[in-house]
Amino acid sequence: MQGARAGARWKRARCWWSPSSAAVDWTPSRTSNARAASQAARKERIEEEQAFVEELKGRGSRKDKRRLGRTGETGAWLSVMPSRRYNTLLSQEEFQDNVRLRFGLRPLDLCDRCDGCGAAFSVEHALSCKKGGLVCTRHNDVRDEAAAICARALSPSCVKCEPKIFFGTGVRAGQQAGQGGTAGAAGDGARGDLSAHGLWKRGETCVLDVKVMDTDAPSYSSTLDARKTLEKAARQKKAKYLEACLERRRSFMPLVYSVDGMAAKETRAFERRTASLLASKLSRRYSEMCGIVRSRMALAVVRNNTLLLRGSRMTKAATFQATDGADLSQMERINIRD
Ligand SMILES: [Zn+2]
Repeated sequence: MQGARAGARWKRARCWWSPSSAAVDWTPSRTSNARAASQAARKERIEEEQAFVEELKGRGSRKDKRRLGRTGETGAWLSVMPSRRYNTLLSQEEFQDNVRLRFGLRPLDLCDRCDGCGAAFSVEHALSCKKGGLVCTRHNDVRDEAAAICARALSPSCVKCEPKIFFGTGVRAGQQAGQGGTAGAAGDGARGDLSAHGLWKRGETCVLDVKVMDTDAPSYSSTLDARKTLEKAARQKKAKYLEACLERRRSFMPLVYSVDGMAAKETRAFERRTASLLASKLSRRYSEMCGIVRSRMALAVVRNNTLLLRGSRMTKAATFQATDGADLSQMERINIRD
C-alpha cells in the first residue's frame, strides 16, 4: 500500500521534471522549479498521511484517537542521528519501548505489580507513579537538557538552576493568593527550575519551570485533545509564578511536555528562540538548529520512559536507613572498631 503510494508520487514527480511532459513549466530558474516540485510532493505526502491517520482514528478506541492525534508532533526523536559524541544514542530497550508506546502497544516484559506501591503495573501507572523518585529524575533530566541548550545558546554563566521566585531583603510573598497579587503563589520558598539571563531580552532574566505529564492518564481523560491538556498545565504554571516574576523584572515561561515529547505552544517558542540564538552564534541555518533543539528535548523526555517502565522504585524498608548525621557517625565508629 505504502509502496504503491510512493510509486505514484515518484511517477508524478518524474512527470513534473520530464522535459517531454506537457505539465512541465520551464521557467528560467531551475532552482525554483525544484523547490516547487519538492513542496508539492511534500504537501501531497502530508495529505496522504493525514488521511491515513484519520482513517485509523475512525476505527480506533478513544485512547487510540488521543494517541493518533499527537503522532505528528511526537516523532522528533526518531529522526536523530545516533551519536555517542553528542549524546543522542538510545539503547535498544529505550528505542523498542518508545516505538511500542508510539504504536499504542504495551512494552514487552513488564512486571505485573509496581514495586513501589504494589498497584497493578499498567503503562499509565508506570509513567506517573511518584514512588521511588523516578518521576523527579525524568523532570530533572529534561531541566538539565534545557539548561545545557541555554548555556550553549547564551553562556554557562547566564544559566542558573533552581532560581528563587521571591528573593531580596524584606521581600515577602505578600502577593500570595487572596491578597490581590499572585494567585496560587507557593510562598517564599518557591523556585523555578531554571533561569536564563538574556534569553528573550538583553539584560532580562527568564525563569523557566518544567513539567512532564502523561496526557493519557485517567485524570486527564476528560478531553480528547492532548494539546488542550498541555496548554492547561502551562496556564496553571503561569498563574502560579508569572506575576511574581514580572514584579521582579523577570519573565516566566513554562516548559510543558507530554511523556512522548509533545510540547506546549510556549515550549515550542522556547525551542525556536534557543534555535535562533544557536543559529546566529554558530553561523548555522535556523531550520537545522530547530531540528537539533527539538530532537534533543524530545530525547530527554522519551529516554526516561524506559526508566519509569523498568526502573526500580525501591521501598523505604529496603533502603539505607540513616535519618541524620548522628546515625552515620555512629556507624562509622562501629566500622572502626571492627
Ligand atoms: Zn506505583
